[in-house]
Amino acid sequence: MNIILIGAQGSGKGTQAQKLVEKYHLKHFSTGDALRAEAASGSPLGLKVKAIMEAGELVSAEIVNEIVKNAVEKHQEQGIIFDGYPRTLEQAAFLESVAEIDAVVEIEITDDEAVKRISSRYSCPKCKAVYNTQTKPPKKVGVCDNDGEAIVQREDDKEAAVRKRLSDYHAQTEPIIDYYEDNEVSIYRIDGQRPVDEVFEELCESLG
Ligand code: AMP
Repeated sequence: MNIILIGAQGSGKGTQAQKLVEKYHLKHFSTGDALRAEAASGSPLGLKVKAIMEAGELVSAEIVNEIVKNAVEKHQEQGIIFDGYPRTLEQAAFLESVAEIDAVVEIEITDDEAVKRISSRYSCPKCKAVYNTQTKPPKKVGVCDNDGEAIVQREDDKEAAVRKRLSDYHAQTEPIIDYYEDNEVSIYRIDGQRPVDEVFEELCESLG
């Protein structure tokens, strides 16, 4: 089973994807995570994508599609949860050429809620644990519970970059839902402003 999770930044896609992995043993594939890993590797490609990501811009379809194609080849049999991809109609058309999609789930939140959630999101640069200074703070202010590293805010989680990403989301990513509707793929819309477990319960009911 291949599922696409669509939602604005901060909608909880990553959190819900993790829970789906535990329940259905699918592969969670996040293009954002894959690109951040490339950026961290310091490769020439990584340096290029790092600057684009920090500005809150979309990485070119050419680069992202190649990463997706490799992931599909590797994890197709297990089934994949696509998180953060496709983000444009062009990417949706590419994905159709390499994988069959069984369901699209949109997790809905308002822009104000997205900004509120993301601007309080911090993570550990070492173990990648994610914290939220409002809802899931580390035990000691500013320091990771697991390894004592100073937690940091992603460049693209700063407010100006978040606003840019939200406007890209409305302009470029939302139309993808109509694209799948026209192609008769099952679409589920879930209110993402509720507690994580309630959102997950509805998600599981939708997917059956
Ligand atoms: P995310 O973690 O999904 O919010 O992605 C972080 C950043 O990675 C985005 O702001 C883009 O710069 C880049 N990125 C992630 N997925 C894509 C995609 N499907 N197409 C283009 N750029 C992407």
